[in-house]
Amino acid sequence: MAYVMRDDRLEPLFRPVSVLPGVGPKVEAALSALLLRGTLPPPATLIDLLLHLPVAVIDRSLRIPLDAAEPGRVVTTDVRVETISGLQGPRYGKGARRPVRITVEGLSNGSRGGMEIVYFNARSEWLAPLYEVGAELTVSGTLELWNGHRQMVHPDYAVPRDQAHSIPAFERIYPMGAGVAPKMLRKVIAAALPALPALPDWLDRSYPGLRDLPSLKDALITIHTGDLGAAQASAREPARRRLAYDEILSGQLALALIRHFSITGQGVSRQISGDRAAALIEGLPFALTSAQKRAHEEIRADLASKDRMVRLLQGDVGAGKTLVALLAMADVAQSGGQSALMAPTEVLARQHFQTLSEFGTAADLRVAILTGREKGKARQETLDGLADGRIDVVVGTHALIQDPVTFHNLALAVIDEQHRFGVAQRLKLSDKGSHVDLLAMTATPIPRTLVMAWYGDLDVSKLDEKPPGRKPIDTRALPMERMSDVIARFEAAMRQGIKGYWICPLVEDSELIDLTSAEERYKTLRSALPADLAAKVGLVHGQMKADQKDAAMADFKAGKTQLLVATTVVEVGVDVRDATIMVIEHAERFGLSQLHQLRGRIGRGDVLSTCLLLYQAPLGATSKARLEAMRDSNDGFILAERDLELRGAGELLGTRQSGFQQFGVADASLDQDLIALAHDDARLTIAKDPHLRGDRGKALQLLLQLFRREAAIRLMASG
Ligand code: ADP
Ligand code: MG
Repeated sequence: MAYVMRDDRLEPLFRPVSVLPGVGPKVEAALSALLLRGTLPPPATLIDLLLHLPVAVIDRSLRIPLDAAEPGRVVTTDVRVETISGLQGPRYGKGARRPVRITVEGLSNGSRGGMEIVYFNARSEWLAPLYEVGAELTVSGTLELWNGHRQMVHPDYAVPRDQAHSIPAFERIYPMGAGVAPKMLRKVIAAALPALPALPDWLDRSYPGLRDLPSLKDALITIHTGDLGAAQASAREPARRRLAYDEILSGQLALALIRHFSITGQGVSRQISGDRAAALIEGLPFALTSAQKRAHEEIRADLASKDRMVRLLQGDVGAGKTLVALLAMADVAQSGGQSALMAPTEVLARQHFQTLSEFGTAADLRVAILTGREKGKARQETLDGLADGRIDVVVGTHALIQDPVTFHNLALAVIDEQHRFGVAQRLKLSDKGSHVDLLAMTATPIPRTLVMAWYGDLDVSKLDEKPPGRKPIDTRALPMERMSDVIARFEAAMRQGIKGYWICPLVEDSELIDLTSAEERYKTLRSALPADLAAKVGLVHGQMKADQKDAAMADFKAGKTQLLVATTVVEVGVDVRDATIMVIEHAERFGLSQLHQLRGRIGRGDVLSTCLLLYQAPLGATSKARLEAMRDSNDGFILAERDLELRGAGELLGTRQSGFQQFGVADASLDQDLIALAHDDARLTIAKDPHLRGDRGKALQLLLQLFRREAAIRLMASG
């Protein structure tokens, strides 16, 4: 791999944060953890610090009476100290480290709203002069509710009331981490700003949308140290968009480079006669939908092409993606290659294994499974079979990308529920072979702009048609108070032999968050139902051992249990066709796409299904909108667009779980226009100047380096 020199002009920015005054080894480590989040080796550098942007501006200028303040918000308010405890006593030894607790009364026209101010591990010599009984103070911080009492833990500011003006009116809020204090962070960022060199601009200003954006340097200065307050918001927006565009463009360029250097002409033209897929289709108990046929044709054309396949198979839950993947695997086996399917969970991998083995027999496919649970001789046999080519298809979890797994000739990598995996994991599977074709599957319908943001020019096959006979699901939202009606209804259904799920949000009871745990609900449902039906209640949750989970799923599938109390482990892909009721408890806590995924577990047969969304009143505006959207639509694409409006893209894609965030600055719903623009910009640029040797190309290399797209640069240097 070619070594890529960093441009000299950028060197100052890539010095470790410890070059800044006041940053010793401890702070450096804390900053590295905060800024790099484990994605790059420490230490964090000045550019990492400068690209750490404020997420909000808080307004402390408005002082409100304590009794009018809303918990969960930053408030600035005047108070009088009533009692103090914990200030005296030993700093060390027994009795030390007791929190300091101060009760205060709000100072507003005779109102009696009070709260408690708490300091943990506080230095009494700092607190004692300030907090005296009767003292009048202005404090600013986040008001919280703790056991029904108002509390402010470690106020951001606490000053004598006559010095309230010393509290800054507006302040930037940065994402924080352990060992990093807000004031210190602001200080080191300001100290890093002068290291920014003036760089040649890489923006193509002939695009009208980019014409008036500031330079990167000016944008960063405005964002970190520019004046705040409503009047300056208009200067911040172009600055933010400048950064957003740079970030998106660097990503799009990287993708365009990958396409140019490792996809185009980098595939194997596979010889496919189609016999094995035909045998497979012949053996199916149903006919393929025309969407499935079309997707299979598209994939087959990719396999035969000399470009590498990078295709996304999008289809709503239950649309039959697994089968399409299996057809591609049969084609690949025919051409002498092996296929691997990686699923995000054990439950799902086992289910795929069943499907693939069952339907694959007709095509003579030798299918194996590999997860963390396969041990000893069986595991070794699978590893051997993969290495010598006896196995055509392997299904598994993350275990597939681990070291001991080698393939004789891996030709096709299929990633199910692709958004659950990080980019690195997806690439790792492809790296187990050479010229591996990639098929990513998702049931989360991703709006076009996001597909672009993630993949650039990704080919997409859509299963926009469900297998025949599927009926829309009757969905209703009910407040928790209607619980006993819901149980009665479930009981009547069970009497008729109907099966259903009862979904709960959390496993263990937690004192802090009052959510029903699955275990608790399992118990109450069993005691609420008559004995014969109580015996037919099952339980499955993420904390159970894998074989217990399997047993619970198998009992439910076989009808030994009829009501399955579950946490979100059933969310992805689980297929029990005759389950037709779903109750989702605390539905207001789930995201829209998650609700849709969950609901997709029912409505698979030809019987009308019912989904009951139990919510805790009162509903916030967003939760209300979500539940309404669920009631009004069964269409995953419509729901995904709605979800994108209602929440940020990170959550929609589930990237928060997988620890991979596409954007730090840009916002996929706010900056859709920039994504589209950067996409075109990058494509045209790489088409004209793939090695980025022209003047603008050289400037763009700086951009790639700033946003740490080293992998793409290396690809270009070696290509
Ligand atoms: P997805 O992964 O897209 O959510 P699955 O692949 O799990 O969907 O398929 C859902 C169910 O539909 C499975 O039981 C599968 O066997 C079945 N199925 C797939 N294709 C068809 C079809 N063309 N006709 C009828 N049933 C189908
Ligand atoms: Mg699936």
